[in-house]
Amino acid sequence: MQCPRCGKELAQQRYESATVDVCRACGVWLDAGELERIIQTHEKAFTTSQIEETLKANAAGLPPGEKTGRAACPKCGACMDTFNYNYSTGIILDSCPYGHGVWLDKGELERVQIHMEHWDREASQKRPDWRKMMDKTSQDLADREARARQARRDMLGPAGRMLESALDALSHIPQQP
Ligand SMILES: [Zn+2]
Ligand SMILES: [Zn+2]
Repeated sequence: MQCPRCGKELAQQRYESATVDVCRACGVWLDAGELERIIQTHEKAFTTSQIEETLKANAAGLPPGEKTGRAACPKCGACMDTFNYNYSTGIILDSCPYGHGVWLDKGELERVQIHMEHWDREASQKRPDWRKMMDKTSQDLADREARARQARRDMLGPAGRMLESALDALSHIPQQP
């Protein structure tokens, strides 16, 4: 397989419990399921400064220097989708739309691991607080949505209401895979 960034041949390398495909200059390719396996094994130890840096970066959201160029899946050549790992970590991964795996730019695998391990450690102590926070957030979102809906209805009048229910019906048609 070839590196999706520079085109050089990827080298197989052992990383914790998985065999991964590495480009020294650019990053690492993980087949489907390998990322989950690596996150579960927790073999690699990180320094305090690595952990602090990662958590700071996570809190800051999307890094400005993140590559936005779309890479091709090394297995099938399809244009990969970029996504923010675990929704808001600021760690941007590329994943094959056909589920072959994910590409992580240099340093991102370590950042994902640090993020997940920290998350695990803190989870048991902080879970009650997080739950409260999440309940409140989803309640706020539901409230905001309801208010926005009402405002739209008030603004649009009867014709708008008809249009809205038509759009609603459309959005509930299940997507073709
Ligand atoms: Zn490369
Ligand atoms: Zn693919």
